[in-house]
Amino acid sequence: MKDRKLLMIPGPIEFTPAVMRAMGMPTASHVAPNFIEVFGQALERLRQVFLCPAGQPFVVAGSGTLAMEMAAANLIEPGDRALVVNTGVFGDRFGVILERFGAEVTQVCAPAIGDAPAIEEVEAVLQSGDFKLMTITHVDTSTAVAADVKSLAALGQQYGVLVVVDGVCAVAGEEMRQEKWGIDLAITASQKAIGVPPGLALIVAGPRAMETYRQRDRPAGSFYADWEQWLPIMEAYEARRPSYFGTPPVNLVWALNVSLAQILAEGIGARFARHQRVSRAVKSAVAALGLEEVPVSPERGAVTLTAPYYPDGVDSALLGHIGSAGVILAGGLHPAIKDRYFRIGHMGAVNESDVMATVGAIETGLILAGCEIEPGTGLAAAQAALAKPA
Ligand SMILES: *Cc1c(COP(=O)(O)O)cnc(C)c1O
Repeated sequence: MKDRKLLMIPGPIEFTPAVMRAMGMPTASHVAPNFIEVFGQALERLRQVFLCPAGQPFVVAGSGTLAMEMAAANLIEPGDRALVVNTGVFGDRFGVILERFGAEVTQVCAPAIGDAPAIEEVEAVLQSGDFKLMTITHVDTSTAVAADVKSLAALGQQYGVLVVVDGVCAVAGEEMRQEKWGIDLAITASQKAIGVPPGLALIVAGPRAMETYRQRDRPAGSFYADWEQWLPIMEAYEARRPSYFGTPPVNLVWALNVSLAQILAEGIGARFARHQRVSRAVKSAVAALGLEEVPVSPERGAVTLTAPYYPDGVDSALLGHIGSAGVILAGGLHPAIKDRYFRIGHMGAVNESDVMATVGAIETGLILAGCEIEPGTGLAAAQAALAKPA
């Protein structure tokens, strides 16, 4: 029997066998020619996956939060004004990080949990002040709300502010076209839709972000996050030259390069379409099982993640039942509703069988938790959605 349950949380996710093999390779020197080649390729491929041909990629050991911190440390100087489009916990977090580097932060918050601020409201705030930068959480992992990044980024460009997208639960799963949409800096972390075990902070900074960094009056208020250290390293690896500032996580970079190659081989458009298909199937099943979702409407909902409320009379013990049926899901994260909902991550290498296994386990779990549902209800809905032509 397989000793492993299916991991369907919003990161870490299920990784492909090729990615896991790269993690298990004998670790090379960080200046070995074969590793330099791999790091150089990974940087080139990152630009392609972010759809930002003119961008400067950064690959640094750390989690997604370090990527957020790098954005703030390098783009913000004390007294700068920053606007946070807030759709949940990760908007709160970005606000705190920006403040730590001296920004005056204005939060434009969603009117309710599961909703997003109206574009008009964001525009009114942009009009009212001289903002240097705005942040958008593409998918807030605490609410499963997806922001309208394309429209918000266009607005940011119109008002001349730097557009920073926290794409940690989105890049390589949700459609994001960094250069075309006018996103000045986008970040993600390895363990989410980009499909690599946890440990890498990933950034692609566009020309305006790099120019803002070059125009700084004083050095960044962080030593480790300062691009002063990392830019020469990224440039050296891409030029296939050895260099050193902090030891790179060799096996993770190898694994990243493998995953990026797999993403590009699938085709970024095909990958977005697969994620949509999978998401529709999960969401049809959830609806058929009579579960409400945290996002207030389907338009607000993410593609990479589904967040259903527990049905009446059921609590987080449900996750134990689903686990005993073979699938690991995540509990709630947003403090105001933490005990009332759960989260299903479906990104990266996720396929149709994963959907059926997950929906089957949710159904079994609900029955074990005492819900009166007809076995097969969710599965039938998922199957019908998957059988529909694209
Ligand atoms: C997961 C996540 C983060 C934080 O990433 P860590 O790797 O856990 O530090 C930030 N923003 C969003 C939207 C996320 O989903």
